[in-house]
Amino acid sequence: MPLAEKALIARIQKLARRDGHQIVRGIGDDCAVLRRQSGEELVITTDLLIEGTHFSHEWHSADSVGHKCLSRGLSDIAAMGADPIAAFLSLGLPASLPQKWVDDFLRGFLRLAKHYNVTLAGGDIAESKSGIVADVMVVGSVPRGKAILRSGARPGDIIYVTGALGGSAATLQQLMRSKHTRSRLGSRHFYPEPRIAVARYLREKRLATSMIDISDGLSTDLAHICEESGARRNKRAGSLGASIVADLVPIANGADLNLALYGGEDYELLFTAGKSARVPVEIAGVAVTEIGWITKEKGMQLIEGTRKPRRLEVKGWEHFKKV
Ligand SMILES: [Mg+2]
Repeated sequence: MPLAEKALIARIQKLARRDGHQIVRGIGDDCAVLRRQSGEELVITTDLLIEGTHFSHEWHSADSVGHKCLSRGLSDIAAMGADPIAAFLSLGLPASLPQKWVDDFLRGFLRLAKHYNVTLAGGDIAESKSGIVADVMVVGSVPRGKAILRSGARPGDIIYVTGALGGSAATLQQLMRSKHTRSRLGSRHFYPEPRIAVARYLREKRLATSMIDISDGLSTDLAHICEESGARRNKRAGSLGASIVADLVPIANGADLNLALYGGEDYELLFTAGKSARVPVEIAGVAVTEIGWITKEKGMQLIEGTRKPRRLEVKGWEHFKKV
């Protein structure tokens, strides 16, 4: 059984204690008090992680679930070109759960928080009658007007992705097909690294016209950029489109083009930049690859060799959703 609520909060408070010049008050009052910096805007994201939907005891260690829980929120902060400040964590825990699981979860969560200088500044705990629920909220900051939105892409902009794609889905497929031991599988599925430093660089250099993190698969997340950017440009004209060159898509070890296009949970960044923008091939140690361009005509196309381009369907994470 987990520790009783009061004792558990006291333990988390002790583990989470950190100095942050923007955190006036963290855990231990009715609200957290964050200091606003002048000229900055706040960005806020929430993310829900549910046992049986997003992870399973059989496949995911508590440490990895804790890491993933915060990483998903941080990846959304990165997608805005923002810097994370504070996280808020609400846990629904079954009475049958050993406290060791909670401790391991917190270790994974707080290790990542420390790495990115994020303070766990509050949350809630309740008993869950059906499995573990972890709800994380992350607050970040960005200089006024500098958040990188999904809606800023223009026809002719070049499309880029960070890292390599499909690795997380490939690992999940291996888990479903056989009994691989965890240690032999790729780490991106269990310990995704949010691309905070890449995002900061893109914001500071004003390189990206639009950005999103790839959580549901390249095809699905690129469609969001096309839709939002089209709607912003001209509501009646509708969505923009995109052409993707199959040979350019960076494919993770053990994955294939299908998993790279449609698999989810890679938490890489997908962004667009003007044709004349000088985007480095590597930022903060992460590869940055040009994979296609934005078109005025709506619809997404996949160009494979010299064959006639085919439609790039929007089919993301759903396939692999049944964990
Ligand atoms: Mg996102």
